[in-house]
Amino acid sequence: RWDAWAARNRADFPFFSAPENAGVAYLDSAATALQPHVVIAKHVQVSSTFDGNVWRGMYAASARSTAAYQEAREKVAAFLGAEPREVVFTANTTHAVNLAARGWAAHRLRPGDVVLVAENEHHSNLVPWMQLAQDAGLRLRFIPLDSAGRIDMAAYRELLRDGAALVCVAHVSNILGIENPIASMAELAHRAGARILVDAAQSAPHVAIDVNELGADFLALSGHKTFGPTGIGVLWARRDVMAEMRPVATGGGTVSEVSFEGVYHRQTPYCFEAGTPPYEQAICLGEAVDYMQRLGMGAMRGHVRAMTRYALRALSFCEGATVLGDQSADDGSLGIVSFAVDGISNETLCALLARMQVANRAGAHCALPFVDALGVPGICRMSIGPYTTKEDIEAWAFAIQEAKRACAGMRERN
Ligand code: PMP
Repeated sequence: RWDAWAARNRADFPFFSAPENAGVAYLDSAATALQPHVVIAKHVQVSSTFDGNVWRGMYAASARSTAAYQEAREKVAAFLGAEPREVVFTANTTHAVNLAARGWAAHRLRPGDVVLVAENEHHSNLVPWMQLAQDAGLRLRFIPLDSAGRIDMAAYRELLRDGAALVCVAHVSNILGIENPIASMAELAHRAGARILVDAAQSAPHVAIDVNELGADFLALSGHKTFGPTGIGVLWARRDVMAEMRPVATGGGTVSEVSFEGVYHRQTPYCFEAGTPPYEQAICLGEAVDYMQRLGMGAMRGHVRAMTRYALRALSFCEGATVLGDQSADDGSLGIVSFAVDGISNETLCALLARMQVANRAGAHCALPFVDALGVPGICRMSIGPYTTKEDIEAWAFAIQEAKRACAGMRERN
């Protein structure tokens, strides 16, 4: 039934009807998801009929932009179970994490304070903390994973006992696709007096998020992974936590009063949105949120789990292929399968797949320390969106077998 569901959704995505993409199995949604018609139509509408800069324009086009920008904030807030004034529009997840680091942690944390970061975090939720640790004398400690690729909760408890001020963790790992137990992690963090920042870049496309149920203090996501455009992301911070933040980038848009003597900043969240904001992208993100909700977050999750299982089964028939992390559990990966094939480098494998019209991604997936620790030079990753059908996955598994055969043939000739 999920196959038919995905096949119906495909009609919503012009990517598939573009002649350039004929026959492509698009299995790279974790990098960037496709945009549905409704989002693309919104781009056209905003660019053709709104197109006045937001805020103080008195004319109708500017008023329309401002109203739609604020409506997008309301939609994102409702999507997260939050209040609109807790939503800051940023460029992407990376900028959102940097805003939390520089706007909150830089002045709330003291030298010697500990920031806990999971071992397999994306560079975007790792490097900002490394940089800040260097600048502000913080100590960074890493939460280990168990052999199945899950957060080692005993080790996490131990680390918290030693004292921590902030925990930074992905909701869903971009390498293993595993969903971390954020609610339990947040409860433990709060009991230990720490705050928790959740990188929801990979969960927002398929997991119903309620920031209060999660118990998060900060949450970051990207529009381009949630069927919206690039150039837009979100930093959500609970109201009382946002009140502790200070503007990082300042100038037009962030101030209510400026004289030669001084500055009054606008209220939150506007004091964190410097310059002309990406309001077109924000409005399109609002449309993408509507689209996801129409499909239903329960269905998004059900489909992605079913297709991930199907992909794992297909891969188990591919000789020499291995999967990263323990994917046997019922609560296994959400839409991501990282894999390797004996005797073929990840780059060669992905290049061969690309030649066979299968879009995958190779490399360290922005988690170099984690991939290095696995002792592999890199990995291939396939990922799933609401338009992924069994046929895509069969094409992928077939292409892997063909690539393996081609490489074996090359070796024989040599
Ligand atoms: N965190 C995770 C878990 C991700 O998968 C990604 C995107 N690959 C990011 C952060 C960064 O997202 P962006 O490039 O949109 O800032």
